[in-house]
Amino acid sequence: MISLRFKRLKIRANLITITRRIIQIFAFLLINYIIIETIFPINLLILEGIIKALPVLNTPRNPLSNGAGMLEYIFFSMAEGVFPFFLIAVLILILLFSNRFFCGWICPIGAIQDVCAAIPTKKKKIKLETHKNLLNLKYVFIIIITLIIFPLGITKNTNFLFHLDLKTYLGVFAQRPIGFFSLSEFIFVFLPDIIQNIFLPVKFDALELGGYIIIGFYTLIIVLSVWYPRIYCRYICPFAAVSSVVTDYSFLKLSRNPVKCVGRSECGICEDVCPKQIRILDEPFEFFTGKGECNFCLKCKEKCPHDAILIKFGNI
Ligand code: SF4
Ligand code: SF4
Repeated sequence: MISLRFKRLKIRANLITITRRIIQIFAFLLINYIIIETIFPINLLILEGIIKALPVLNTPRNPLSNGAGMLEYIFFSMAEGVFPFFLIAVLILILLFSNRFFCGWICPIGAIQDVCAAIPTKKKKIKLETHKNLLNLKYVFIIIITLIIFPLGITKNTNFLFHLDLKTYLGVFAQRPIGFFSLSEFIFVFLPDIIQNIFLPVKFDALELGGYIIIGFYTLIIVLSVWYPRIYCRYICPFAAVSSVVTDYSFLKLSRNPVKCVGRSECGICEDVCPKQIRILDEPFEFFTGKGECNFCLKCKEKCPHDAILIKFGNI
C-alpha cells in the first residue's frame, strides 16, 4: 500500500518528464517511421503525407528534401535559387506561438541526447565564460552555411555556368549545405547511407577523409551528451541558432513568481536541473528564455519546490 502511494507520488512529481518522454518516443517513430518498417514487415508510406502536412520535419524519405529536416529543406531550396517564403513564414509562426517546444518535446535529435543524458552519471557544468563563448559557435556555423548557399542560389538564377563550376568546386558542401553542421543529417541521412554502402555490394564512395572527420566529431558529441546534456543543441544546432533569434518575441514564455521564488542562495534547483545551463535566476521575473536558448523542456518548472515557475501566453 505504502509502495503504491510512493509510486503515485513519484509519477506525479515527474509527470511533465513522463509526458515529454511519451511524446518524444511517438514523434521519433513518426518522423523516422522507416525504422519501424525496417524492423517489422509493414509499409507505412501513408504516414509520409501526415508528416509533410505538419511543417516541422521532413522524413529522410522525402525526395524533395536534400536533408532530414525543415531547416535543411529551407537551406537546400535557397541553394537552388528558390527563396521559400512560405516555409520561413510557417517556421516563424511556429516559433512565435510555441517557442522552442519543438526542441524540447519533438526533435528526434533532442530525444537521442536526452536518452544519453538519462544514463546515470554526475552531470557536469561548463565554466560560465567558456559556455557563453561556445554558445556563439552555432552562429559561426550559420554564417558559414549562408556564405555557401547564397552565392549558389544567386548564381543559379544569374550565371548558370558559373553556378555549375561553383557547385563542382564546393563538392559535398554544395550538395548538402547544412549537412556538416546537422546531427539529424548525420544520423538520418549520412549514417544510413554509410551503413547501406557497407552492407550492399555497391561502390562505396561517400566516405572520404571528411566522412571520417564527421563520424568522429558526431560520435564525440553524442558521447559527451551523457555528461553535458543537450550539448549539440547548445553549441552547434543550426535550428537552435535560427530559432533563438525569434523566441525572445514568442507569445509562449516562462516566468518566475517573485513572491514564491527564494533565489539562488537558498535554492537554485531550477538552474541545477536545466539541461541548457541557463542562468534562470539572472533573468527578469517577467519572463526568461536564456537569450533564446531555453528549449521549453519544463524541467525547471517540474523540479521547482516552491512552484514558482509559470507558463504564460501573451500577457496572461
Ligand atoms: S527552483 Fe524555484 S524557488 Fe528555487 S530558485 Fe528556482 S525558481 Fe526559485
Ligand atoms: S530554462 Fe527550464 S524549460 Fe528552459 S531549458 Fe532550462 S530547464 Fe528547460
